[in-house]
Amino acid sequence: MPTLSVPSLFHFICISKQLRNDILLAQPAEEPEDEAPEVLPPSVTKLLADSCAISLEDVGLLWDELRQLIWGTYDFVTPCLDLVILKYGHFYGAEGVNSVANFMKNVFSTGPKPKHIFFDNNCTLKRMVQDDEFFANIGLTVDVFHWSCKHSTRDTFCQQHCNPYRYPELQNNDGLSWYFNSSIAEQTNVWFGGYHAICREMGVHKFNFFLDEMIYRRNEDV
Ligand SMILES: [Zn+2]
Repeated sequence: MPTLSVPSLFHFICISKQLRNDILLAQPAEEPEDEAPEVLPPSVTKLLADSCAISLEDVGLLWDELRQLIWGTYDFVTPCLDLVILKYGHFYGAEGVNSVANFMKNVFSTGPKPKHIFFDNNCTLKRMVQDDEFFANIGLTVDVFHWSCKHSTRDTFCQQHCNPYRYPELQNNDGLSWYFNSSIAEQTNVWFGGYHAICREMGVHKFNFFLDEMIYRRNEDV
């Protein structure tokens, strides 16, 4: 096992615990959720390596040694109330659905794929990728907030594929509340909006560096 100071080790354990849902999201559907996965998704490995200033290999070694401890003592009360930003990309001009589909493929090009992806325009995206093997087993739902106010009940395709209420696994056992905070992306947009005035006059390199740094710090806080 790599040698780490006690604070660094504690840091690793804390962050890994908070990434539980991100780790689970990349697991194949048949894997039991109460057992720690043997291998971390590449995006999580990279995030842990960056945030603990250790190598990717060391993350793997630490995970091997500590995963039972990390997995076994997790607090299930409020899963996924906040979001760790694993990846971001630039959409030049507009958020075209085709670009979003390519972005999703790029993010999950290696390692296991998520079981669900929330996106407020998933009904357009779902139509576009119906025959795309990559999206075959991924639920493309619309988050609960957008669902109730921006998607037509007459759109039967949207109702059939993108209605979050059709996926019982997204709800808690009480059948009333949701396991994931599906509006977190929208809430994170609000957070990004706080930097809008600062960023609008920046050149591309400064803009990238600045947002990269802000996201890194936010992930640490989360
Ligand atoms: Zn729709």
